[in-house]
Amino acid sequence: MGNNGGPVLVTGGTVLNRSGESRADVLITDGRVERVAPNLDSSLPAESAGGPRRLVADGCVVSSSFVDLHTHMREPGREESETIATASRAAALGGFGACVAMPNTDPAQDNVAVVEFVRLQGERAGLVTVAPSGCITVGRNGTQLAPFHSMAAAGVRLFTDDGNGVQDPLIMRRALEYARELGVTLAQHCEVSRLTEGAVMHEGCCSSRLGLPGWPAIAEVLMLQRDIELVRETGASMHFLHLSTARSVEIVRQAKNEGLPVTAEVTPHHISLTDEKLATFSTLFKVNPPLRTMEDVESLRAGLADGTIDALATDHAPHAAHLKDQDLSAAPPGMLGLQTALGVALAYSGCATRRVVEAMSWSPAAIAGLDDHGRDIEAGSPANVVVFSTEGSWRQTPESIVSKSINSPYFDVDLKGGVRHVVHRGEVVVAGGVLR
Ligand SMILES: [Zn+2]
Repeated sequence: MGNNGGPVLVTGGTVLNRSGESRADVLITDGRVERVAPNLDSSLPAESAGGPRRLVADGCVVSSSFVDLHTHMREPGREESETIATASRAAALGGFGACVAMPNTDPAQDNVAVVEFVRLQGERAGLVTVAPSGCITVGRNGTQLAPFHSMAAAGVRLFTDDGNGVQDPLIMRRALEYARELGVTLAQHCEVSRLTEGAVMHEGCCSSRLGLPGWPAIAEVLMLQRDIELVRETGASMHFLHLSTARSVEIVRQAKNEGLPVTAEVTPHHISLTDEKLATFSTLFKVNPPLRTMEDVESLRAGLADGTIDALATDHAPHAAHLKDQDLSAAPPGMLGLQTALGVALAYSGCATRRVVEAMSWSPAAIAGLDDHGRDIEAGSPANVVVFSTEGSWRQTPESIVSKSINSPYFDVDLKGGVRHVVHRGEVVVAGGVLR
């Protein structure tokens, strides 16, 4: 199925770059884009005559492949739920060319040995670039800074204790000072844990009605505010993970207006689902931060559309069936996201296609410091390319899931568009919606 590095021609699509859109064919050789021009198809030999392998892109968009800032790959330590190989398959089918691997593995990604293992497993899977994040604190315990210097030297660009927010302001201030010196970015999971103990869903009308313990919006807002003040003081750059409240969007907008070096992401589920889903008492809808109200959803969509929120990031969080098959208080939070992210973005974000590509490819590539990704499709660029349709409605089925777990919230939700082909480093990894 693969092309083994041989030439590939993407024909008949609309190439979407920062400079605009154009109808053009894209010739890929030796891992790079060689030419972008109309009618290359007719001027090159047919595949049967020794010409390049054809990927038909009629009616489709051709852009740089997507970059996920937030993937829980579960390896090492949680291989019953997902492995780097299975997550890579889901990512490729979702149109991704790179994923930042979150550090809440076991052992945690708090040293060079684990970080290198994760990167190597990504190379072995060979479908997407796996860029490990590093922990901010040793074991994500919030008390002792992890060895930033050695991990940065090993290529780590994003540091986070994701799953936990860094509670101690002294640790956070020091971490930002180190990060500034090293030129790396800290990514915060904003949650004041004292305010969310025992919570299973958003604190509001719905949680009161259902009698379930709530996770109040203020727990996110307080840490976001604190960290923006620390950014102002230290001058370090900072990224805010999976923001979920209307107030958070306002705060980030204000910080950006002041010129502070902050970026932010939202997840597909926070722009498409609300806390009303918990009325089913299904653990599929338990996620951290929790699904919020329609007012929050609308603010997040508006923030994503106007660029206040830079990126759409999946927070892909697989959990084995026996873990999710507990009551709401015991089940771990999290839901799948890689295979449905584009479908959710096209159906629910309200963003034009160009803004979707910016939020799923160009911006996250820049935030993650991945120079080979998020590039325009032009001669000389590394060939990390996705071909996708923006039309057509579909629903996810359990059978279509290639992750090791099936905890998706989208079985009863209409999604839109679809990934047709993916080229990773010049290799065809998805053709006609099928993995190689
Ligand atoms: Zn998180």
